[in-house]
Amino acid sequence: MQNDEQLRENLIEMLEDLNSRLSKITHDVTHVDGPVSQDFAEQAVENENNEVLDALGEATRTDIAKIKQALLRMDKGEYGVCQACGESIGNERLAVIPFSSLCVKCATLVEGC
Ligand SMILES: [Zn+2]
Repeated sequence: MQNDEQLRENLIEMLEDLNSRLSKITHDVTHVDGPVSQDFAEQAVENENNEVLDALGEATRTDIAKIKQALLRMDKGEYGVCQACGESIGNERLAVIPFSSLCVKCATLVEGC
């Protein structure tokens, strides 16, 4: 089993990865927003790209928020505890999703799968 320091380091590493990914995505969107292309087909592709990048940016922001919350929970000594039912999330699930805030049971209920 990993100790808390190792876990915290992993989470911070993930957070830094996501932050650099997000700034790259934001940069790309800003770049594409620059000089408008004359060609309609090209413009359509650019708009589509922006939509994809927006969705990516949104997903990345969500993950960043989740990791930040996980670090906060770690500070409060609540890491690994399900935020919905208070049960232990379980090491197996935390190994796959280190920033998970719900146990398998509650996550299934929320995600509906
Ligand atoms: Zn739960």
